[in-house]
Amino acid sequence: MLFRLRREVYLDNNATTRVSKPVRQKINQVLKTCHGNPSSLYQVARNSAEILAEARRQVAQTINAQDHEIFFTGSATEANNAVLKAIAQLNYPHQTKIVATPIEHSSVISTLDFLATQGVQVDYCPVDAHGRVQLASLETCLDEHTSLLCCMLANNEVGTIQDIPALARLARRHQILFMADCVQALGKMPIDVKALGVDYASFSAHKIHGPKGVGALYIKSGSPFLPLIHGGHQEFGQRAGTEGLHNIAGFATACSQVPNLLQQAHRVRELKHYLIQAFQRLKPDCLIHSPTDDYCLPNTVSVTFPNINNAMLMAMLDYHGIAVSAGSACNTQDDTPSHVLKALGLSEQQARETLRFSCSGDTSITDIKYVIKTLADYFSGAEKIPIHLVTPAQLNENLLFAENIYILDVRFPHERKLAKGLPRSHEASFVAIRKYVKQIPPNKNILVVCEMGYNSSVVAYYLKSKRFKNVSFLLTGLMGWRWYYPELYRRYGGQNVTVLTP
Ligand code: PLP
Repeated sequence: MLFRLRREVYLDNNATTRVSKPVRQKINQVLKTCHGNPSSLYQVARNSAEILAEARRQVAQTINAQDHEIFFTGSATEANNAVLKAIAQLNYPHQTKIVATPIEHSSVISTLDFLATQGVQVDYCPVDAHGRVQLASLETCLDEHTSLLCCMLANNEVGTIQDIPALARLARRHQILFMADCVQALGKMPIDVKALGVDYASFSAHKIHGPKGVGALYIKSGSPFLPLIHGGHQEFGQRAGTEGLHNIAGFATACSQVPNLLQQAHRVRELKHYLIQAFQRLKPDCLIHSPTDDYCLPNTVSVTFPNINNAMLMAMLDYHGIAVSAGSACNTQDDTPSHVLKALGLSEQQARETLRFSCSGDTSITDIKYVIKTLADYFSGAEKIPIHLVTPAQLNENLLFAENIYILDVRFPHERKLAKGLPRSHEASFVAIRKYVKQIPPNKNILVVCEMGYNSSVVAYYLKSKRFKNVSFLLTGLMGWRWYYPELYRRYGGQNVTVLTP
């Protein structure tokens, strides 16, 4: 009976975490009492400078760095950009090669894509089915042209932990600099940058119950660097811009809680194993991509449920108050199958059948049992699927122009620039969908459409929860339909589209 009650279960902690109470209190206190600019000279500014120095000390201490080796940034994305661009620039045109793993976060991969257009050679070393770098094959990628080796400590999608000390030793032997993205590892495993042997490491506050919009870059004393952002003298002249003191102080408070997070890691790992065993019981053909040994984050499970579309499953779980992610999705605006899963050897179809569950110290066994029960009902058919799926083939001319169909287009503005909408469709915002609900006719058959079929399924379930009777979504989205019916798209695309206003 307990499980009939709807719960809120947040299992997307690798995307971001809930801000903890001590962090909230610290941020509020700094906002309230510390308005001085840390760069100014009078007392109120000196108070702010003191808070900044204390925060730097706290972050440094958490990862066993020295204070002057910590540089606050606006995000870990910025930190990763800064290192890659600095090294590329410093070494051009002599050592133009950067070697990375193919499972890095998009803040690394996209930066490398950009650098490749500027003449930098980028090589990706092979990884095994869990994403582990093979030392022997990595060594063959390194040569006298290589300036930097880049490998994350723990992967955000599958949780695989790399042997960074061994990789850093290899880099040192070849006189190559080493950068490790430590964003996902912080708070889930002890981090000692000296023991890791890295030159650069990036961190993000919002993965450890801190605020969003603040990161930190560790630069080993003496390792080369060039600022990404120019302006004032902040951050020892390496990152200009008045510091977001409240965020930095919140980050430091979150770091002070890291020992507590690490204490919870054992219990979190037990929850993870409970979840994996339940998946294997419910769906014996499921594929678990996260290693089950200690070389994996304690909180992360990546799982493929064959023949079950992850968009559908994610939307169903969302309907029941459970937040998980499909693919890399830190980002609702990226519908493409995950590059990480593809690097692990999954087909595009398997990547579209894969979900990531990421727990935290806030997750309880009751939460996990609720998730398992919800999945069990869905897999066994006990849960009647409340929404319908329309395949691209089914959306023929008859259905497109059927009297009682109401097409709701929830693509993002940039996607609308790339392709025209379906005829007679109504454009609404995905993120602000609740503001449009009153305008959607309750008696029509609502067909929700997005770019690739992910966001539309979430909206379809949302509308169902708002008591709309007939709701469906277009599988594979407008892209899939356009590919299937190019002639219909040419003839009718963009006709009689209505832009709804919230
Ligand atoms: N690196 C990894 C491994 C991540 O998981 C993320 C965020 O998801 C980032 C970098 C980017 O962090 P931020 O959100 O601070 O830019």
